[in-house]
Amino acid sequence: MESIKDASKDELIETIESLKAENEKTKDELMQKVRHLESEQLKSNVSNRQLEGKIKELKGEINSFKKNPLILATITEVFDDNQVGIKGNVGHEFLVNYPKSINTEFLEPGARVALNQNTLTVVNVFPRKKDENITAMEIEEKPNVTYDDIGGLEKQITEIKETVELPIKNPEIFEEIGIDPPKGILLYGTPGTGKTLLAKAVANNTNARFIKLVASEFVNKYLGEGSRYVREVFELAREKTPAIIFIDEIDAIGTKRVGDNSGADREVQRTLMQLLAELDGFDQRGDVGIIAATNRPDILDDALLRPGRFDRTIEVPNPSEEGRKQILKIHTERMKLDNIDFDVIAHITQGLSGADLKAICTEAGMFAIRSKRKKVISKDFLDAIDKILGNINVN
Ligand code: ATP
Repeated sequence: MESIKDASKDELIETIESLKAENEKTKDELMQKVRHLESEQLKSNVSNRQLEGKIKELKGEINSFKKNPLILATITEVFDDNQVGIKGNVGHEFLVNYPKSINTEFLEPGARVALNQNTLTVVNVFPRKKDENITAMEIEEKPNVTYDDIGGLEKQITEIKETVELPIKNPEIFEEIGIDPPKGILLYGTPGTGKTLLAKAVANNTNARFIKLVASEFVNKYLGEGSRYVREVFELAREKTPAIIFIDEIDAIGTKRVGDNSGADREVQRTLMQLLAELDGFDQRGDVGIIAATNRPDILDDALLRPGRFDRTIEVPNPSEEGRKQILKIHTERMKLDNIDFDVIAHITQGLSGADLKAICTEAGMFAIRSKRKKVISKDFLDAIDKILGNINVN
């Protein structure tokens, strides 16, 4: 079409229609753009709100950094009138207030609290860990370990019977002669040689309550409370006699003092002082036996070894060949064995402890089970020795 004047009616209608269609298309495209922009706006609104939240959070964090830090301490006693006794790692004990709003469910001796630095008011209480008691102190009314369960320590058993059992069973003998029975004995030797076993057997043979304390647990978990626990243990022993107090890993609280003045070291020393005070103040009638154990007698504080304290020391060494044979027999008593020559096994396990030999017996049983056999054969023992020796070398 050259000019509109020359256009026929049909041509004009066609042109108008095509212009209309073009218009519609442009309108659609514009609408699409509007919708796209609207959704973009929506998205940026959302991310704006998220950013505002983040800013608020960060501002809160900055404010909390500006606040004074809180002091951590341990509750020693709970009093009336919203007051508790607390002790920090530096030693002093304080009587402080706590607000009524605090969670009183956890307020008990041993629980940790956070204190305001200026007023020492309790602002938060954390629950006492439930497993702490179990790991640091173990009480058995009468352990079921007997002397028959111990292999190769005849000399040590005789000495323990004389020094710990006799005063419990026949205190009158000491009275008649006019001497004080020995107070504490120290068992020393490498791990797994049967020190705990010996202490338990004494308790069994004297019908005594067995109270075991792991000194290293005090140091790791009861910072600020070690001395209180030592006191409580001695009270517990006096409450029901006869009793055997067994302090394992005593070196953790009884090492020679080297003048380190850190809070933790002072606390360890306080625990040791409490132990020495308990030993000294102990009216020894013979009905409480005190046995300590260590793998490191060389690092012990001399104060512990003075007369009237742990003045009897007994070495508990790794078993001899004959001892190893006895220990193997004890630990295979209930096992189904096929013609095992314990002389040979005892011979080739030189240098191993009672605990290692027990592990070998268990492992031999496992090899038999894996091979679907009903009896344990010599090869199982040899494989078990290989495995245990491998583990020992690796360690
Ligand atoms: P640690 O120094 O590591 O505390 P320990 O000397 O107290 O070790 P025990 O706990 O008495 O050693 O021994 C660990 C296990 O090894 C015992 O439960 C026991 O099964 C076995 N055992 C160790 N020594 C002997 C032994 N002389 N006779 C029989 N079994 C033993």
